[in-house]
Amino acid sequence: MIIPDFKYHRPETLDEACRLLDESPNGAAIAGGTDLLVEIKQGLRQHDDIVSLSKIDGLRNITEDEENIYIGACVTHHELTGSEIIQRNIPALADAAMAIGNRQVRNVGTIGGNLCTCASCADTGPVLLAYRAVTKIAGPNGTRQMPLSDFFIFHHKSILEKSELLTKIIIKKTGGNTGGSFIKFGLRQAVTISVASAAARITIEDGKCTDACIVTGAVAPTPMISPKAGKSLIGKSMDELSEGSSAIDEAGQLAADESVPIDDIRGTAEYRKDIAKELTIRAIIKALERIDN
Ligand SMILES: Cc1cc2nc3c(=O)[nH]c(=O)nc-3n(C[C@H](O)[C@H](O)[C@H](O)COP(=O)(O)OP(=O)(O)OC[C@H]3O[C@@H](n4cnc5c(N)ncnc54)[C@H](O)[C@@H]3O)c2cc1C
Repeated sequence: MIIPDFKYHRPETLDEACRLLDESPNGAAIAGGTDLLVEIKQGLRQHDDIVSLSKIDGLRNITEDEENIYIGACVTHHELTGSEIIQRNIPALADAAMAIGNRQVRNVGTIGGNLCTCASCADTGPVLLAYRAVTKIAGPNGTRQMPLSDFFIFHHKSILEKSELLTKIIIKKTGGNTGGSFIKFGLRQAVTISVASAAARITIEDGKCTDACIVTGAVAPTPMISPKAGKSLIGKSMDELSEGSSAIDEAGQLAADESVPIDDIRGTAEYRKDIAKELTIRAIIKALERIDN
């Protein structure tokens, strides 16, 4: 199908980008275009103005200070996987980025686009939720920050207003006593959309779990924190959290129980719940393995 005509803008500042979006009756931002252009081509969306983020300074950096890691919204999945800062601090996010599409998609698809698409199966969401990421948003009236947990409203619906842009993702650093993981299951080995996914972040202090967050993907309208699953791990000793233990099995079951999947071409709701349980179990084991001894 031929893409309908649109005006293509390449502003150099965030202010100008927000203004262009504000003034357009139905404008849209474009980063890598791997979601947007497909949807336009399929006739699912139509825009008179497309505002490219590619010339705006500062959206493509990964930086850190003592407390936080800062990821620009236009950082590509390829850049995430290759970043020393990400690999050292949140290898689970590199795993999630690596699991996206194929090399061509990872070379241009961005973390910001992945979050703003707001698909329940978007693969960077679960890890970022597990690490309590915060989003930085720019709009015509300035900037605001909000937890990623409040960013997703529903499948394909984020908190962003029409003329707002996601500019940065901020993640608090954890110590070596915290481990994280991401595991996805698709219908084939590569270029596969998640039937279900799971991320875990677990902190162990003095041999016991003091903090845990379990997130499942593609089993609810948005990536979803499973509060009961995370809570069930807190207070458990490393012995109680050994592979095959009832504590890990229970957390997996709770994550499955808390999920609200749908039936679609990739699997039934019941199948997704079974997969979510197994992926959660594996994600917990992998997160625990990543904790420094
Ligand atoms: C073959 C193929 C395989 C794929 N496989 C996967 C996969 O395995 N896992 C997965 O999660 N995804 C997958 N995707 C989807 C897609 O590649 C990712 O979601 C990607 O991260 C989208 O980023 P983008 O920069 O291309 O977004 P774009 O297509 O540019 O934008 C997507 C949406 O976000 C908005 N947007 C983009 N950036 C911003 C911003 N900074 N502020 C506000 N709004 C913004 C756009 O207006 C648009 O609505 C696949 C896509 C293809 C084509």
